[in-house]
Amino acid sequence: MGSSLKIASFFGIEVRIHVTFLLFLAWIWFSSYELEGSSGAVKGVLFILILFACVLLHEFGHAFAARAFGIRTPDITLYAIGGVARLNRIPDKPWQELIVAIAGPLVNVVIAAVLIFGIHVTAGLQQVEHLESPRIEMLAKVASLNVMLVLFNLIPAFPMDGGRVLRALLAMTMPYARATQIAARIGQGLAIVFAIFGFLGNPILIFIAMFIFVGAQQEASITRANRSSRP
Ligand SMILES: [Zn+2]
Repeated sequence: MGSSLKIASFFGIEVRIHVTFLLFLAWIWFSSYELEGSSGAVKGVLFILILFACVLLHEFGHAFAARAFGIRTPDITLYAIGGVARLNRIPDKPWQELIVAIAGPLVNVVIAAVLIFGIHVTAGLQQVEHLESPRIEMLAKVASLNVMLVLFNLIPAFPMDGGRVLRALLAMTMPYARATQIAARIGQGLAIVFAIFGFLGNPILIFIAMFIFVGAQQEASITRANRSSRP
């Protein structure tokens, strides 16, 4: 997708940011500025940058796992809705796809575990009642952010990693195209459930539902095209 610019390159993988990410940052800046002034704006933007640093590490998890199977990742792009590591091909074997899919969330599990361990060590040195120091509060916030990233990504629906995990598990017992079809159906079923709960009172679920519904359809059609172009 166009409208992105390269900001860095690590281990031969370009890191790009999409224009939607910059717009999102600008929106966070202005909306926090209105509420809490310039210090609030700085805090708001800093928080989003930390969140996306964790998203970026997650994407590198996918990229490194893919590299272990000889698959290159030319670039990782950060969008307002998250990151995408562009692999130059899908892993051949279902168990390889399983490992590549799980490697991303695993990075966030490790980050959360390290932070929680750090918080406990720090808290052990102090009284538990004095946990209100801003640094510990920040660490706890980033830790729970990573736990949320894991839970969100493991929703068994495309384009989430959980959808790929589900497809890989299904593909161990049936043809790849059929596994994709079933995983896409399950994802769309979940999207409908989310949408219903969304309309019952949580608008953010409607947004997630649309995201999943479109993602599932895309995955199914990409796979169909890939398969039919193969001899
Ligand atoms: Zn991922």
